[in-house]
Amino acid sequence: MTENKNQHLSLLYDISELSILVSDSKDIDTFLQQVVQSVASHLHAEVGSIYLLDDNTGELVLRATQGLNPASVGQIRMRIGEGLVGMTMDRMAPFCDGSACENPFYKYFENAHEESYKSFLSVPIGRGLEKIGVLVVQHSQPDYFEAADVMALRAIAAQLAGTVANARLMMGLQQTAQPVSTPALMQRLQFIRGEATASGFALAPAALLAPQDPLLADVPDDGFESTANAYQHALRATVDQLKELQEQLARRLPESAALIFEAHYMILKDPRFDRQIIDLIRQGQPAAAAVRQVARQFIALFNDSASPYIREKAHDIEDLARRILFNLRIEKGQGRSPIDKNIIIAAQLYPSDVLKLASETVAGIILVGGGVTSHVAIMARSLKIPMIIAQERELLQVPEGTQVLMDADIGNIYIDPSAQVRGQFEERNRLRLAATGGGIEMRPETFTRDGVRVHLLANINLLGELDLARTLKAEGVGLYRSEFPFIVRSVLPSEEEQRLVYARLFKQMAGCPVFVRTLDIGGDKVLPYLNLPQEANPELGLRSIRFLLKHRDVFDQQLRAILRAGAQAEQLGIMFPMISSLDEFEAAREAVVGTLATLQREGLSYHTSPAIGAMIEMPSIMTIIDELAAAADFFAIGTNDFIQYMLAVDRTNENVAAYYQPFHPSILRSLATIVERVGRYNKPISVCGEVAHDVAFIPFLVGIGVRRLSVDPQFLPLVQQTVAAIATQQAETFAKALLAASSLHQVQKVRAAWEKTFKPV
Ligand code: PEP
Ligand code: MG
Repeated sequence: MTENKNQHLSLLYDISELSILVSDSKDIDTFLQQVVQSVASHLHAEVGSIYLLDDNTGELVLRATQGLNPASVGQIRMRIGEGLVGMTMDRMAPFCDGSACENPFYKYFENAHEESYKSFLSVPIGRGLEKIGVLVVQHSQPDYFEAADVMALRAIAAQLAGTVANARLMMGLQQTAQPVSTPALMQRLQFIRGEATASGFALAPAALLAPQDPLLADVPDDGFESTANAYQHALRATVDQLKELQEQLARRLPESAALIFEAHYMILKDPRFDRQIIDLIRQGQPAAAAVRQVARQFIALFNDSASPYIREKAHDIEDLARRILFNLRIEKGQGRSPIDKNIIIAAQLYPSDVLKLASETVAGIILVGGGVTSHVAIMARSLKIPMIIAQERELLQVPEGTQVLMDADIGNIYIDPSAQVRGQFEERNRLRLAATGGGIEMRPETFTRDGVRVHLLANINLLGELDLARTLKAEGVGLYRSEFPFIVRSVLPSEEEQRLVYARLFKQMAGCPVFVRTLDIGGDKVLPYLNLPQEANPELGLRSIRFLLKHRDVFDQQLRAILRAGAQAEQLGIMFPMISSLDEFEAAREAVVGTLATLQREGLSYHTSPAIGAMIEMPSIMTIIDELAAAADFFAIGTNDFIQYMLAVDRTNENVAAYYQPFHPSILRSLATIVERVGRYNKPISVCGEVAHDVAFIPFLVGIGVRRLSVDPQFLPLVQQTVAAIATQQAETFAKALLAASSLHQVQKVRAAWEKTFKPV
C-alpha cells in the first residue's frame, strides 16, 4: 500500500513536531491521540493504537486509539507475552500478520470492534533495556501492510520512545495502577519466590533504586534550607561524600574506581549546572526548587540523546541532585541516605548501577520484572551482593523502609518477615557459611583421599577478588574474565588503561600461572557504547572471539596490553573464548604472533612466550578435538556455555532452566571424550564453568581424569574438601557407570547410589 518514501518521511517529520508539542502539553492523552491519528492517516490504516506498559501491574494498556472502540481505552490490558500486542513487547520485535484473527496468539476483546480488521502490524517502543509500549496499525483488507510500512512504523516507534518515556516521567504516568492500600499490598507480597541470581542473605530496609520521585518532591520546600549559602554548603558536602565513596570503591574495585562518579563530576564541573542554580536562587527561588528545576532540565536533555550511554547518564543527574537535596534538608537525620545498607528494589539495572551500589554498603538487590545481563549477575556475585530477580511489579510499591529478608541462595523474598521466619533465616545462614567452607583452613595443595594431586585455581572477574583468591591459596588464576574493565567504562579502555589493570592482576598473582581470557562480549554481555546493531539471536551472533576477529584494532590493543603487562609473569596463558573451528583458533593465534612481532619491533618490554589456549565451549569442537588438541597449548572447558550450546538452552532463560542439565548423558560423554583426547597430547586442561564447584559433579570430573579446576574464590575451601573426600578409583567407577547411562533417568539412578556412600562435607 505504500505510496512513496516521502510520505513516510513526512510522517516522521510530523511525529517529531508532535514530540515537541508534548513537552508543552500537560496532557499525555491528547498527545497520544494525535500520534495514533497521525500514524493511521499516513499509513492509510483504518486503525492506529498505542499500548503503554503500566509499570505497576506489568500490563500493556490501550492508551489511545483511532478506529477501535474509544470506550476500550484503559480497558484493554494484556500481560507481556499475551496476545499479539503482548507478544510484540515480549520479543521486542515487529510483528506483521495479513490475517491476524486466525493467529493462535490473537486475543479477542469483546466490544473492541476489532474483528473486521484482518491485517495487523505492531512494533515495540523501547529504549535501551526499558520497555515502553507497542504501536499498532490495522486494516480490514488482508495482507495490507508491506515491508516498507514495517520500517516506517519502526522508525516512528524509535522516534517516539524518548518522548513517551519522558512524558511518562514528567506526568507521573508510571503510577497508572489503581492505588493499592498498603496493608492489602503487604498481605499479597508477604512471600515471593524469585530467581536466585547472586547468592547470599540479607535482612534490611527496602529502598527503591529509582524512587518515583528521585528529586525528593515529597519533602516540602520548607523542609530544606533555602539560601545560596546553604546550597554551597550542601554542594561541598556532596562532593566530600562522593570522594569518600570513591575511595571506598577504589579498595573493592580498583579497575573502575575513578569512573563510577565520572558523570557526577562532569556535571559538577559544568558551569551551566551550578551557575543556573545560583542564578535561580538569587532571583528568589528556594534552593531546593532551583536544584530540582535545573536537574530536570539536564535529565530531559540527556534522556533525549540518541546515545544509550548518555541516556543512562540521566540516572547520574538524578542521583547527584538527590544527594544535594539530601544535604540541603533542615532535619539532617530524617529520611534515608540514598543507598546505605538497604535492600535495593529496582526495575532496571545497568552494570554501572551495580558498581555504584557496591560503593555503598548495599545489603542486597531485588530486580523486578526485567531481564538481567550475565554481566550484571556476575558482578553482583563478584561483589558478594545477594541478588534475586522477581516478576511481581508490585514490589516497586513496597513502602521505603519496610524490612525485607532475602534468601538469595534459593530466591526467596519475605516482606516484613515474622520472628519465626527470621529465626529460620539465621539457621540457614549458618548452614550456608558451613557449606561454602566458612572457617575451613586451606592447605596450599589439594589431593584426593588416595593422594592424587588436583590443582585448584581461581576464576577472577574483578581485581578486588584477588585478595580472597590469595588468602584461600588459589594456585593461580585459571580464568580472568577480561571484559569487566570494558563494561564499567563509557568508552573502550585504551591500551594503557588495560595494561594497568592487567599489571595489577599479574602483580598480585606473582609466581603463579595466570590465564587471561580475551574479551568475551556480545550475547547478553553488551557494551552499550559500541552501538552494535541489535541481533535476533545474540547468543549465536557476533560475540566473543568472532567480535575480536572482526574488530582487529580492539583485539590487537588488548593483546598488546596483556603481553606488556605480563612481561615479568612466570606463566602467562592467553585463551580465546567460543572457539568453534580450527581456523578460528589459528586466526586468533596469528593475531598473538603478529602482536609479539610488533612489540619486538617497537622494542617494548613484553612476555615473549605466552601459552596460547582455547576454551572449549562449542559442540563443533567435538569432532575436531584431535586436531585442536595438537594445535593449542592448553584448554579450559567453559561448561556454562558448553552446556548451553550442546543442549540449545539459553543459560539465562528461566523458562528453559529445567533443560539445563549438566548431568545430561551427552554432556557427560562429551566431557569424557574431550579430556581423554586432550590427554593423549599431554596438554593441560581445566574446567572453569560453574560445575567445577558443584559437590555433586566434582567426583565425575575427577573420575574422567580432570586434574585442574578453576572456581570463584569463595568456593575454594568447599572444592578442596570435596576433592579430599574422593578416592580416585571409586570416582572412576562412578564416572564409568554414568557414562554407561543413556538417559537422564538412568543417570539419576547411578547418582542416587553414589550419593549413599559419598559424604564430601
Ligand atoms: C563458561 O562458559 O563456562 C565460562 C567459564 O565462561 P563465561 O561463564 O564467562 O561465559
Ligand atoms: Mg563462556
